[in-house]
Amino acid sequence: MRQESIEHLGQVKTAILETTGNISFYYYPDSEVSYGLPVLPKAYQKKNFDIKKKDIYACTYCGETSELNSGRYRCQRCDHEEWVNAINTTRLT
Ligand SMILES: [Zn+2]
Repeated sequence: MRQESIEHLGQVKTAILETTGNISFYYYPDSEVSYGLPVLPKAYQKKNFDIKKKDIYACTYCGETSELNSGRYRCQRCDHEEWVNAINTTRLT
């Protein structure tokens, strides 16, 4: 994903694993980019079990995003409880 300049999952509409083993990515236009799980190490490594302040977070296991207040939360999709700040930057092409 990083080789395709993808910064977070909110930029990606779908991904297809081709028979060659390559992955084809289809992107949202900038106006439709939503908050998503960051894939760059610097942002992803700030993952945490304890939410410190109200913001939009992404589950580090499945990528589900939620607006959370301070505290501890389980992901409604996968039941894991480790979160990282979600980002909604647009793609640099
Ligand atoms: Zn999850």
